[in-house]
Amino acid sequence: MRLLADLHTHTIASGHAYSTVTENAGAARRAGLELIAVTDHGPAVPEGAHLWHFWNLKVIPSVLDGVRIIKGCEANPCLTSENGIDLPDEVLEQLDFVAVGLHPLTGFDEGDRMKNTEAMLRVISNPLVDMITHPGNEDEFPLDIDAIVAAAKRHQVIVEINDYSFTPTSARNGSSAREREFAAAAHTAGAPIAVGSDAHYHLRVGRFDHALGVLEDLGIPHAACVNRDAESVLGFLLGKRARPRLEYGGVWTTPEGGNVEASR
Ligand SMILES: [Zn+2]
Ligand SMILES: [Zn+2]
Repeated sequence: MRLLADLHTHTIASGHAYSTVTENAGAARRAGLELIAVTDHGPAVPEGAHLWHFWNLKVIPSVLDGVRIIKGCEANPCLTSENGIDLPDEVLEQLDFVAVGLHPLTGFDEGDRMKNTEAMLRVISNPLVDMITHPGNEDEFPLDIDAIVAAAKRHQVIVEINDYSFTPTSARNGSSAREREFAAAAHTAGAPIAVGSDAHYHLRVGRFDHALGVLEDLGIPHAACVNRDAESVLGFLLGKRARPRLEYGGVWTTPEGGNVEASR
């Protein structure tokens, strides 16, 4: 199985990641990818990107090195903001892609399953949200798997299968069994699924080996993954809501040199 889009990549704007958008795009091209989403951490994460970072993503070309660049975020649930997220809806509306996940030091460190689940259900019900990241982080941020997966199906929010959660060096070491359970439950429930690398360095962009093994074990087919190629990603996103900047992106060139039209 080959997946040609990576919906979860970080840059130096995340504070604890070490490559630029340009380096990530080059690595994506060399890995044969058609598309990457730039998903730097929202402001609630220590050293996360400032609001202005997300406002100004428009300055990055929509194609770099032949790779389509989707301008997004990995935001955080937030108990004190109006929309329950650490970026306001006016900013999220401008983004091509909105991912949200639970992270340390953002107000959810007690390991309270009910609190975490309620916060994430509120996030999932926001029509501007497209994906929840690494939901299987059971040790740090336990979630009610059935409630989350049912809501993801209802609101057409992607449940990420996070490749990094399966790597031995991961900070989320120990969450792989639960991440696998989420993949199985999401597939059974019919919720959208995507594999993300969660690259914090460009050489990890498009690295899906561990997650692909899990998909194979679970019998989850290629067709069930939103990130199979650029067209499937853009079709999914434009099918959910208008994306002012994504539509402006128009036509881009694939790594093989052909033109692809952004389809609605
Ligand atoms: Zn990070
Ligand atoms: Zn994350």
